Amino acid sequence: MNNKTCDLVVIGGGVIGTAVAYYAAKAGRKVVLLEKDHIAGGTSGACDGFIIMQSKNPGPHLELAMASAAIYRGLAEELDYPIEYEPKGGMIVIENEIQAALMKEHVAKQAVSGLAVEILAAAEARRREPALAPDLWGATYCAADAQVNPIKVAQGFSNAARRLGAEIRAGTEAVGLIADRGRVVGVTTAAGDIYCEYVVVAAGVWTPGLVRPLGLELPIKPRRGQILVTEPLPPTIRHVLLCACYLVAKYRPQDLDPAERHNRLGVGLAIEQTADGGLLIGSTREFAGFDRATTLAGLEAVAAHARHILPGLAGVNIIRAFAGLRPYTPDGLPILGPAEGIPGLIIAAGHEGDGIALAPVTGQRIAACLE
Ligand SMILES: Cc1cc2nc3c(=O)[nH]c(=O)nc-3n(C[C@H](O)[C@H](O)[C@H](O)COP(=O)(O)OP(=O)(O)OC[C@H]3O[C@@H](n4cnc5c(N)ncnc54)[C@H](O)[C@@H]3O)c2cc1C
Repeated sequence: MNNKTCDLVVIGGGVIGTAVAYYAAKAGRKVVLLEKDHIAGGTSGACDGFIIMQSKNPGPHLELAMASAAIYRGLAEELDYPIEYEPKGGMIVIENEIQAALMKEHVAKQAVSGLAVEILAAAEARRREPALAPDLWGATYCAADAQVNPIKVAQGFSNAARRLGAEIRAGTEAVGLIADRGRVVGVTTAAGDIYCEYVVVAAGVWTPGLVRPLGLELPIKPRRGQILVTEPLPPTIRHVLLCACYLVAKYRPQDLDPAERHNRLGVGLAIEQTADGGLLIGSTREFAGFDRATTLAGLEAVAAHARHILPGLAGVNIIRAFAGLRPYTPDGLPILGPAEGIPGLIIAAGHEGDGIALAPVTGQRIAACLE
């Protein structure tokens, strides 16, 4: 029955699937990548591009992120692709004393893990980032934070994988996994079955639906984020910026006061200036099923919060908005590695708001577990 046509089928052409395809091809594996739409057609094409270390929880989360950040430094050269990597440093804006206490605790834990983060009082924060509002408490600063263009990262991995012999099949949906005596041996597509040694499911929020028929329940669910895009602007901000509410919305949403609209929508500021000058201003954190629509309430809440932190944005034109679905997991960590009890099946999904930052290390580690 098993006429193996390749070593590995990767399902999903986001940053995670393309990174897996690249590192597996680099290790000499014969790879086929299936993407139902186009490369970066899912969450990786509807997100920010923060490679931010200081938002990660100390422990495995931060360790993975730091390993990935080290790979990013040479990735454009390695892939021979302009991924718009900018090591510009990042700030987490602190609005008040309560947030300051939270951030001091967070920074102290990160120092133990080897990440250098400074706490800046208001005047110093504004000296380094003059666009900040004058009435803020201050900010944290981390020189290791950076930014990329996520769509270009996925394209760069995909193109480089193809040069190494991987077959990239965009517009090809995996409609089912083929199992033989409990082992996953291939994938069914409309264009025929593909048999292989391993299947890596890197389908972001769509991963649980693909593996459920095998009896595997994964706790990944879509957590929507809405983003505003401004007209191209002259240099407006110098760093990637988050606000302290972002960390609470991400890790401890139960601590937010639901009386505030922006809290109900999980708004935590994340703002970056892209290579073309436009600002990406996000975002919400909402459980709204697979609905990728933007909402007026969500966009208004994001805009109001951004104006509070960066008052100069008041007169800036918004030219479009979009929403993406973060692959949320309850413990905030991705699900990586061989599926227990199902040989041949490997999972690489559930990166929530960190998939861009974690893509290179994920690709490397998944390729390594094929040995
Ligand atoms: C608003 C927002 C802001 C974010 N900001 C950041 C950030 O600044 N930094 C960061 O690190 N992360 C960020 N993230 C998170 C990051 O975008 C995700 O973690 C990452 O994109 C997930 O990548 P993925 O490859 O797992 O999923 P996706 O990019 O969704 O890729 C999965 C792919 O699988 C395909 N697929 C699904 N089913 C099938 C099938 N049956 N057959 C074939 N193909 C299939 C889909 O079409 C899709 O292209 C943000 C997310 C959002 C929503």
